[in-house]
Amino acid sequence: MVQAVGEDLVVIDLEEFGDPARTGAYLLLDDEPTLVETGSQACHPKLLAGLREVGVEPEALRHVIVTHVHLDHAGGAGALMALAPRATLHCHPRAVAHLVDPSRLWQGAGTVYGAQLEPRFGRPRPVPSDRIVAHQDGSTLHLGRRTLTFYDTPGHARHHVGIVDSLTGGLFSGDTVSIRYQPQLTGMPIPYLFPTTTPIDFDPAAVLATLDRLERLGLSAVYHTHFSVTRPASDAFAATRRGIATIVALMEDLGPDTAVAEVERRLQAAVKRDLEALGVARPNLDSMALDLNLNAQGIVVYLQRKALGKI
Ligand SMILES: [Zn+2]
Repeated sequence: MVQAVGEDLVVIDLEEFGDPARTGAYLLLDDEPTLVETGSQACHPKLLAGLREVGVEPEALRHVIVTHVHLDHAGGAGALMALAPRATLHCHPRAVAHLVDPSRLWQGAGTVYGAQLEPRFGRPRPVPSDRIVAHQDGSTLHLGRRTLTFYDTPGHARHHVGIVDSLTGGLFSGDTVSIRYQPQLTGMPIPYLFPTTTPIDFDPAAVLATLDRLERLGLSAVYHTHFSVTRPASDAFAATRRGIATIVALMEDLGPDTAVAEVERRLQAAVKRDLEALGVARPNLDSMALDLNLNAQGIVVYLQRKALGKI
């Protein structure tokens, strides 16, 4: 399914894990057609179907941008680039090595997802290094009517960029400014925003510093990879700060030896309380369960790294 979300801007629902409104890729229609995010290798057929629906063949793409190398954002980059000979792949400088050789990333993801890894995401293919351009903070890319500006946005991952679109004033936020859980996904009456703290780079202080920088840009909207748009952008920033405050408060009682299951239990309770405070009479966390488990793993990794003085 494809939906217009701004001027010459559409989101393709990649229906990750068979779910609607979980993960998207954004297509910018301009002199140089550009895709932001590819989704996983498992989502590759949905991505191609979405492009076809808009009438843009992969061969027409000039740029493919990935916000970071996690499999749900960039796992399908290799397969797409093979079908898009005119395209250049754009990413954070720290992301390049993983796109050229995804084997270490695949191994790391295996420790998080276990036997679920391959069926859920599919195995990423390598991208030739001469087709990749790394973007330092402040670097720009001209597409015709719009210019994209890349920002270094650590907090969720150290290989993460945020991209601002001059035409719409919106930010492609990847996983930096919360996940937006849409009613179509959760069955709840309102969208719900909560930060993602998955392993292994989560750092709440870095998230807040990134939000400080992004908020000064005077943005109009946040385009979430998971999923759809928050307008005005200030709503997404406020919700993310609120979520980080919840997580920081929760971590005060935890240490590096706390079991993941215990962190997960407390996260679920905190999110449930938060939803009730927002007026949701019957919070349903089913569609968030996988994310909250990953968030718990990421919080434990953070506490361990902190205890070792690595943060
Ligand atoms: Zn993600």
